Amino acid sequence: MPDFAATLDALRKPLALEARRGCQDTAIAGRSLEVYVADWVRRYQPSDGPAFSLFARLRASFVGYRKAPPPQRRDMVAAALALLDEIARLAGSPEPTRSSKPSATRRARATGGDRESLDAAALDLPLSSRGRRPLWAERAERLGLRTNRDLLWHLPRDHTPIVPLARAQDGQRAAFLVTAGRREVTPRRRGGQFLTLCSLEVSDDTGSAIVTSFLRRPRGGARAQAILRSPIALNFTAGARLLIEGTVGRAGCVIDIQFLDATPLERLDDGRPLRPGHLVPIYPLTEGLYQSQLRPLTRQLGRLASILPEPLPPELRRQHGLPPLGLALRDFHWPPSAAARERARRRLAFDEFFTIQLALAHRKRENAAPGCGRRLVGADRVLARLEAALPFRLTAAQRRVMGEVAADFASGNSTNRLIQGDVGSGKTVVAVFALLLAVENGGQAALMTPTEILAEQHYLVLRPLLEAVGVPVSLLTGSVRGKDRERVLAGLADGRLPVIVGTHALIQEGVSFADLGLVIVDEQHRFGVVQRAALRAKSGATSTARPETLVMTATPIPRTLALTLYGDLDISILDESPPGRQKIETRWARRGQPAAVWDFVRGQVAQGRQAYIVCPLIEESAFAGDDSAVVAKATMAKSAVPLRRTKASESLQAEAATRLAAELGSVFPGFRIGLLHGRLKLVDKEKVMNALRARELDLLVTTTVIEVGVDIPNATVMVILNAERFGLAQLHQLRGRVGRGAEQSHCFLLSDVEPIPGKNIGDGADVQDPARRRLRTLCQTADGFAVAEEDLRLRGPGEFYGARQHGLPDFRAARAVEDLPLLLEARQAAFALLEADPGLDAAEHALLRERVAALRAQLERLDG
Ligand code: ADP
Ligand code: MG
Repeated sequence: MPDFAATLDALRKPLALEARRGCQDTAIAGRSLEVYVADWVRRYQPSDGPAFSLFARLRASFVGYRKAPPPQRRDMVAAALALLDEIARLAGSPEPTRSSKPSATRRARATGGDRESLDAAALDLPLSSRGRRPLWAERAERLGLRTNRDLLWHLPRDHTPIVPLARAQDGQRAAFLVTAGRREVTPRRRGGQFLTLCSLEVSDDTGSAIVTSFLRRPRGGARAQAILRSPIALNFTAGARLLIEGTVGRAGCVIDIQFLDATPLERLDDGRPLRPGHLVPIYPLTEGLYQSQLRPLTRQLGRLASILPEPLPPELRRQHGLPPLGLALRDFHWPPSAAARERARRRLAFDEFFTIQLALAHRKRENAAPGCGRRLVGADRVLARLEAALPFRLTAAQRRVMGEVAADFASGNSTNRLIQGDVGSGKTVVAVFALLLAVENGGQAALMTPTEILAEQHYLVLRPLLEAVGVPVSLLTGSVRGKDRERVLAGLADGRLPVIVGTHALIQEGVSFADLGLVIVDEQHRFGVVQRAALRAKSGATSTARPETLVMTATPIPRTLALTLYGDLDISILDESPPGRQKIETRWARRGQPAAVWDFVRGQVAQGRQAYIVCPLIEESAFAGDDSAVVAKATMAKSAVPLRRTKASESLQAEAATRLAAELGSVFPGFRIGLLHGRLKLVDKEKVMNALRARELDLLVTTTVIEVGVDIPNATVMVILNAERFGLAQLHQLRGRVGRGAEQSHCFLLSDVEPIPGKNIGDGADVQDPARRRLRTLCQTADGFAVAEEDLRLRGPGEFYGARQHGLPDFRAARAVEDLPLLLEARQAAFALLEADPGLDAAEHALLRERVAALRAQLERLDG
C-alpha cells in the first residue's frame, strides 16, 4: 500500500483540525464531518481481514456526530483518531508525529500483523515495549499491571481535587497546577542522618507557595544520584508546568506544601486540559512506583477506553442512566468533576453487581428446574413432635422460617435456602426441624461444618435435642478413626444412621450414603460454598434425586454481601429473638487494670451466676517462629482477619488457656473454675459443658471454641481478654454466649487499645484504627446486622466472610455497604434480562454471555 499514509492523512488531518477548532463541525467546508467519515470509510474499507472491523468501528463511532453536543463530539474525534492509529499500525505504515509526546496508545506498538484482532492487540500490549524495560514497568507488574487493559482496570482508590493555591486550606491534601520557580537544595544533618532539603517555589494565577521535601541521602554517589533523579527530588527547571500534589501547611502567610508527588504537565497532555475543580486519581501503588509514573499512562488511555467493547445493551444503559463503559472508565480515572466521577463510578459499580447477579440468576434457574428436587412432606407432624419436646414456645420468626423451609421441601423443586439470624435468634431449632423432616421422609440428613471443632460443638449441641425426639445423631471427622469410623461409614451406607454431623470428611472417598435427603452447610463466618456441591452430589445409592440444601450462618451477613455470595439461594431471616432477652451491657476496659472487672465477676458469682473468660487469641505466625511483634502489627493493620484454626494454633491456644486458668485460681480463690479448649477429648468437653449446665462450675476459662452452640442461660458475664485481637463477627458471636436467660448480662472487652472518646453512635467515625473501631462498634450496638455492616466496611468484601474463597472478585468501584440500592437495581435488571433471554442468545448479549460463562466456571471450580 504505497500511498496508504496519505489515505490516512485524508482523514487524520480534518479530524485534528476539528479538534483544534473546538469540535464545531467546521473542519470540512459545507459538509458535516459525519458524512465525510462515512465517505472515507466507504472508499477505503477493505473487504475482509482485521482492518475491516476497524473501519466499521470507525464509521460507527462517528454516527450522530452532526447532532452531538461538543463534549461528546470531542470523545468521538478522540476515538476516531485512536482507531486511525490502530489502522496505521495494522498497515505497518509510520504514524505521523503530533505535537505531544508519544501517547500510550501509540507507544503500545503492535509486534506483528498476525494478531487476530487489532483492538485486542492494542489493549493487550505491554505497558512498555520498547527497548529495555524501565524499572517502573517491573514494579507495576507487581501490581498485576502488564498491559494497557490491566491499567485501564487499575481503578483509583480515591481522588484529590485540583485547587487554586489561594484556596489551599491548612492540612488539606490537594493537587495544584503550577509553574515551577526557583529551586534550592540544601544538605542538612539531623540526628546523625544526612538529609537533603529540597524546596521549590511554585505559583499559579492566584498565588504562590513553597514546596518542600526532605530526602534521606545515602552515602555513596551512584545511589544518591538515582534518588535525586526520582520524581520526589523536585528535579524541575524553572518555568516547568507541574501538577503537584501534597499536604498544605500555612506558616504565617506562606503556604508550604509538603511534597508528595509531581508530574510535568506536558506528560499529562491528552487534549483535555486540566483545570481547578478536576480530580486527580490516587492509585494503589507499590514500593518504588509513583503516582507521577502511572498518571501520564492512564491519562492517555481515554482513547483506548473508548474502543473497549461495551457489554451492556444500549436499552439497558438507557433505562438505568448509565454512560458507556469507555466513557465511564475514562472519567473515573480523570474525572472533570465530582459529579462526573460519581456517574462513572455508578456505571462501573453497576457492572460489577450486574455480572455477578447474572451469573447467580443463571445458576438459580438451573437449580430451580421444576421437579429436580425431592418431595418431603409431613411438616405438621414433625413440628408437633418437636414442640412437644421443647421447653419453650417457638417465636413467630422461627415458625415463619420453618414454614418457608417446609414449603420448599414439599414443592418437589430443589431447595437452596440461606438461613440467617442474629446470635441467639434460635437457628438451632430450625436446623433440627429440617433434619427431622428429612428423616421423617425416610432419608438421611447431614450437617457439614468447616472445621473439626465446630463439628464437635454442633454435635454436642444437637444431640440432646434430636435424642429427645428419638433420632440418633453421629459424628464423622478426621479424628474419628478405627472401629468407630468403620461403624459410622457402614451405618451411613446402609441407612441405619439417619443424622450425621461432620467436616469435609463427609465428602471424601469411601463415604457413601443410602439416601441423603438434606445437607445443611454451616458456614460460620468464613469458608464458603466450597464443596457444597460435592456433598450434594452424594445423593445416595437408592435415590437419584439430589439432596436439598440449607446454608446456615452463625452471624448475620450484610445484605449486599448476602445477595452477592448467596444470590442464587432463597433467603430466610430470623429477625426476632426469643422473648425476655435483655440487651447485653458491653464495656471496654483497660487490660492493665482488670481488678474492677474481677470484682464484678465475683459479685455475679455471689448471686449464683456464671461467667466465661476468653483467653487471648494467639497469633498463628508467632507459633511459626516469626517475629511476633511484627506479625501482630501486620495483623492489626489488616484489621485482624480471624485466624484459621489449625491443629498447631489450637494446641497453642489450649496451652494459653490452661495457663490462664491456673493464674485465675489465685485471683478467684474458692471458685470452681472449669477449662474448655479445642484440644480436649470430646467426652471431656461434654463433661465440662454438663458441669457448667449443672452449675457445678462458677467460671469457665475458654478459647474461641465457645463461639458455637454453648448455651447456658445462667451465664451472665463474658470477659474477653485482648479483645483487639479478635475479629468483629467473632466478638459478636462470643458475646452472644451470654444474655441467653432472663437476667441482665454483661460483656467486658479488655484491651490496652486506647478507647475512642465520645458516647454517641457515629462518634469517632473518623478513627482509622480498625481495632478501635471494632471495639467501639461492639459497645455501641447489639444488632448483629449493624455489626456485620461495620465489619464489611472495615475489611472490604474480599476479606469479609472469606469472599475471596468464593471466587468472587473484590468490588473495585462498588461500595460494599452503601451501594445496596444499586445492587438491588442491578439484581432486578439481571433477573429480568435472563427471564427475557434465558440463554443470553441475542447478539447484543454476547459479551454478557461470555462474562457469565467465565464467572460460572470460576464458581463451579470452587464448588468442587
Ligand atoms: P443461634 O444458633 O441462632 O445463635 P440458638 O439456636 O443457640 O441460637 O438459641 C439460643 C438460645 O435460645 C438457646 O438457649 C435456645 O434454647 C433458646 N431458644 C431458641 N428458641 C427459643 C424460643 N422460641 N423461646 C425461648 N428460647 C429459645
Ligand atoms: Mg447457633
